[in-house]
Amino acid sequence: MRRRYFLKTLGATTAGIAAFSCADRDEALRRGDDGGALADADLKWTKAPCRYCGTGCGVEVGVKDGRVMAVRGDVKSPVNRGLLCVKGYHLPGMLYGEDRLEHPMLRDGRRWRRISWDEALDLIAAKYQEALDQSGPESVAIYGSGQWTVFDGYAATKWFRGGLGSNNVEPNARLCMASAVTGFMTQFQSDEPMGCYEDFEAGDDFVLWGNNMAEMHPVLFSRILANKRDNPGVRIIDIATRRTPSTDYADMYVEFAPNSDLALANGILHLLLRDGKVTQAFVRENVIFKRGIEDLARIGYGCWGEDGLAADPSAGPAERYLFRDQGRDSSLAELERFLADYTPERVSEISGVPVQQIHALADIYGDPGRGTVSLWCMGVNQHTRGTWMNNLITDLHLITGKISRPGANPFSLTGQPSACGTVREVGTLAHRLPADMVVMNAEHRAKAEEIWGLPAGTIPERPGYHTMDMFRAFMRGDVKVMWTQTTNPWVSIPNLNRIQREPGDGRFLVVSDIYPTPTTEVADLVLPSAAWVEREGVFGNSERRTQHWEKAVDPPGEATEDAWQIIQVAKRMGMEHLFPWPDDDWHEPMYEEYRRFTLGLGKDVASYEQLKQTRGLLWPVVDGVETRYRYAAGYDPYVQKDRGVHFYKAKGYGEKAAFWLRPWHPPAESPDEEYPFWLCTGRVLEHWHTGSMTRRVKQLHQAVTEGYVELNRADAQRLSIGPGEMVRVVSRRGSLELPAKVDGRGKPPQGSVFIPFFDESRLANTLTLDAMDNISKEPDFKKCAVRIERV
Ligand code: SF4
Repeated sequence: MRRRYFLKTLGATTAGIAAFSCADRDEALRRGDDGGALADADLKWTKAPCRYCGTGCGVEVGVKDGRVMAVRGDVKSPVNRGLLCVKGYHLPGMLYGEDRLEHPMLRDGRRWRRISWDEALDLIAAKYQEALDQSGPESVAIYGSGQWTVFDGYAATKWFRGGLGSNNVEPNARLCMASAVTGFMTQFQSDEPMGCYEDFEAGDDFVLWGNNMAEMHPVLFSRILANKRDNPGVRIIDIATRRTPSTDYADMYVEFAPNSDLALANGILHLLLRDGKVTQAFVRENVIFKRGIEDLARIGYGCWGEDGLAADPSAGPAERYLFRDQGRDSSLAELERFLADYTPERVSEISGVPVQQIHALADIYGDPGRGTVSLWCMGVNQHTRGTWMNNLITDLHLITGKISRPGANPFSLTGQPSACGTVREVGTLAHRLPADMVVMNAEHRAKAEEIWGLPAGTIPERPGYHTMDMFRAFMRGDVKVMWTQTTNPWVSIPNLNRIQREPGDGRFLVVSDIYPTPTTEVADLVLPSAAWVEREGVFGNSERRTQHWEKAVDPPGEATEDAWQIIQVAKRMGMEHLFPWPDDDWHEPMYEEYRRFTLGLGKDVASYEQLKQTRGLLWPVVDGVETRYRYAAGYDPYVQKDRGVHFYKAKGYGEKAAFWLRPWHPPAESPDEEYPFWLCTGRVLEHWHTGSMTRRVKQLHQAVTEGYVELNRADAQRLSIGPGEMVRVVSRRGSLELPAKVDGRGKPPQGSVFIPFFDESRLANTLTLDAMDNISKEPDFKKCAVRIERV
């Protein structure tokens, strides 16, 4: 094994979550787990962010003989200060799976034929041109990722919007954080959190809303645990639908019935108002009240019709953005009337949360002497009312003035390494342009056209297909050519049976990836991509930190970076003007062009030169100085020193933040006699998303080898199911056989089951429901009804 230095680090890293807490750091150092024992090795070290999650841990990559031989946590990184989780410690293995894709491969009937890059790129250009000529710009699409580097996303959005005249650019991040985007945009008219990771040391109470941080953001969780160890008064409150490793560290566990979190948040607000806990001066100065459409029949549950188009059955295919929220002005007095229904007793009935716990939560948020940090991720975002739930969590902070100061913030976490940097900041959602701009706004389009040197009117006004509609349009044949990069939709799209295809169906699917996946299996052309440090890159993490890395090793075979692939196709289509930089020196000029979008708007990303020298910087970066707390005097250069908090981006709200009144609605599908269990899907510590990388890493694969279904012990006994026995999980959309897990790492309550989605041989999304939030268009992977059968 050539990875001897890397393997030296393995012993302690598969031990579990607690192994990565700060409390164990000294012990880890003694063992040399952070690379200390490798210091003498003949390795060339270079910095990079971790390839996996949105935490954005800094790693140092040790290279020898053209191979990544080791990684160690970067002690200079302000994100992780030398720590990594088990996935991070095993990063090199991700590059060296035996079945890396190395050459372009074209489907030839049932077989694959190796072709040259020139043939592949010519073919893609020809297919796109043919679709454009015959069916127009609506018939082409590109589906990328929150794992796209800034370069990949920028190249895609510029090519599509500025070259092909199509807004059919979407990322898989629609599936994971679109509701956070619409949450921030509806409240601050600017995306992304105001706080930073220093909140984890500065806060007193950490409220996890449906967020298993111990497994999904373990390094950040370890920072909270370190704070708690040093300050015994620090509390962790775990609000969840099942017990997880995060629960083990919680001071209070609040279990709510699936989908009832909106009722619970309104119940807390009810008590804050009733008990006079509103911070009146802050609210008067900084908050306006808004109320949107609440009629269930109008907002619906997104793509639930058989044609999958919209909540309104009368809507045609063109009406993809049929639902538009229409906010009207509201007031504190109206809020009081609105909340009258959300008494602790009624909320307890809806949610199953004991009345005293609702009071305890109101006491936590309402205590002006303690800093409260609310944290959330998929549990809140993947929700048919995800935008509303994002709004309600932020409302709790607005009404109590606990916002934009150290240790007191609503803080949404992201799952992918550049969901913020590439998707939200570069603007790769179907309606977006860089720096929070949107294609529907004429001034925004004009600014993009000016920076891109394009004639006025080049960028189309109409948003493209959002993810759910894009795949349906592909299945209908309305989209004729689609290119996916750095993502695995034939595992990750909900209700997978709806998008099964046979190649040769008249559409053309190009897939760029680093390994074979179920998505490459249904492709017509597969392209080999360079991964992580096999190319130069920039990611943006959950706390607004932009991080750069240099290429450290060559990719295998003929693999190339995704942005290069896009640029070459664009050039073949006569769009050289979009990418006018030399083939061997385009990263920096492309980034600096992108940076022009951000300057002077409170979104200023750091210069390329500064990124190269640092462990990333938090935007806005003005005069070379990063911003730890947005909207806060003394931190944010856009706020006057004596201004306190100033939500200066919210021009349409008089530079105040919007508090939205949002009701609780019942879920799209609930358990009944035929399907009596709730199904929740999600991730596990060892595997990242669809497992296409982590399942190639021997140690991670050995730690969790296959998908399973977690059952409550009482349910298992009632159904005579023993641990490890195969069960069949059946929903209205499909069925799946898996081994049962009882009293494992996660413990669902009676009547609920949980399935991780990393195992491509047991596709959890054959069961899930493709209902979605009709504001964010993000589907709900967390709630549908199933039954359990013994096999
Ligand atoms: Fe850090 Fe996330 Fe990578 Fe783990 S997976 S090392 S938490 S960035």
